[in-house]
Parts: sequence; C-alpha cells; structure tokens
Amino acid sequence: MQELAETGRDEPIYPRVLLKISGEALMGDQGFGLHPPTVARIAREVQKAHERGIQICMVIGGGNIFRGLVGAAQGMERAQADYMGMLATVMNALGMQSALEALGIHTRVLSAIPMDTVCEPYIRRRAVRHLEKGRVVIFAAGTGNPYFTTDTAATLRAMEMDCDAIFKGTQVDGVYDSDPKLNPGAQRYDTISFDEVLNRNLKVMDASAVALARDNNLPIVVFSLREDGAMTRVLFGEGRYTVVGPAA
Ligand code: UDP
Repeated sequence: MQELAETGRDEPIYPRVLLKISGEALMGDQGFGLHPPTVARIAREVQKAHERGIQICMVIGGGNIFRGLVGAAQGMERAQADYMGMLATVMNALGMQSALEALGIHTRVLSAIPMDTVCEPYIRRRAVRHLEKGRVVIFAAGTGNPYFTTDTAATLRAMEMDCDAIFKGTQVDGVYDSDPKLNPGAQRYDTISFDEVLNRNLKVMDASAVALARDNNLPIVVFSLREDGAMTRVLFGEGRYTVVGPAA
C-alpha cells in the first residue's frame, strides 16, 4: 500500500516490461558470483511492481560469473567461451527464480538452450501465456547464440513478448552526459534519442541492442536498481529516469 501512496497514477505507463539487469548487479560487494541478499533485494523490487499488476519478464546477464570475451582473450575458442557465458546466465536465472519464489511469486525460467531437467525450453507462445497468467518469466541463456550479448537477448525477447519497454536497471538513475561518479556536474537526460545514444557512444546497452530497439521503436527506460521502490515509481511515471526513444 505504501507504493500506492507513492505513485499517484492508477494505470501504469508500461503495463508489460522486460527488466534487464547485468550479472554484476547480483554480486553485491563480493566482486564475483551471486550474493543471495542482493538477489533477494532485487526480487523484492520485482515483487512491488508485480503486486501492482505489471507483467514482468527478465533477462539477467552472466558477467558476474563468466564472459565469453574474457575467456577468448585468455586463449579459449570464442564460441566455446560464449556458450560458457550463456550457461552462467542460466545460473543467475535459477538464483533469481529461487528468490522470487521465496516471496510467493510464480516464476518460470525459459532457456534458449534446452535444458529440460532444470527449466523449460524457450517457446514464444508459452512465454506469452505465462505472462498473461501473472507469472514472472526469466529468459535464460541469452539468444542461444555465441557472439551476442544479453542486451541483445533482452531487446529480442522484449519485442517477441510485445513489451511496452525495456527496463534497464543500473547503478544510476538514468543516462548522463558524462559519468556522474567521476563528474559531479554531469547532467541527466529525461529523454534522449536512440541515435544520440549511438552517436555519442553513451553506455546504455550494447550498440547492437540499441540499434535493434531503435529499428523497432521499443523504448529503453534507464533507472536505478539501488533505490528502494524506484522500478515501481518509474512504471507509473514518477521518480528519476531516462527514456531512450525516437527523436522528438
Ligand atoms: N552470451 C552469448 N550469447 C548471448 C548472450 C550471452 O554468447 O545471446 C555470452 C557472452 O559470452 C557474454 C556472456 O554470455 O559475455 C554473459 O552475458 P553478458 O556479457 O551480456 O552479461 P552481463 O554483462 O549483462 O552481465
């Protein structure tokens, strides 16, 4: 009920969203792997939005465990290393599923790499059905293809699920003209165009993911995962965030 008081609108701006978080968001201060209290905290953010009737799907990266490019730089075959990275995202998805289910939220993990004994395979129509039934759907194993990232997977799945936006949860409350951690005078944008993000090489998501979102007119909403209740406020048009969209 506290959230209701915090957000004046009754109807969300974005009724169905895909939440993208990096694997690093799950590691807390550990520097590696999953930090269960941090995973639980993010799960509570998802719970608040879910309680307000938002249909939520998620893509979680794997960089807290393994990145294909790092393996390749150390001499591994790139495609093989990328498959390891995709498996890392499955571990993160299962960790998030546990945290959500501990809060009583029905959740399904759908993997782009079939793994029948641990989760469901990705089937688009089944995923849509899960969302309609109020389940949180976590897409694991990225796109299932090497040489891609989970940012691209997030954009792809958001389009397949007909989401109203990608919600990119980060450490800061939007897109800035320079790094706000290094430059106290950095300015935050309320809105910014896809092209400007690409031309100025602003670190929102991978360039290929931003280009895919632009070509399909899918807004990317950048907000802070660190602030309690921020995701829900932003869904209802309140608080501080940046919308990356078509040029005005
Ligand atoms: N990956 C991949 N194909 C995909 C998605 C991910 O090969 O469609 C691999 C890639 O090696 C990547 C790793 O999985 O480095 C982890 O994903 P990502 O780097 O996107 O995670 P994040 O930076 O968001 O934690």
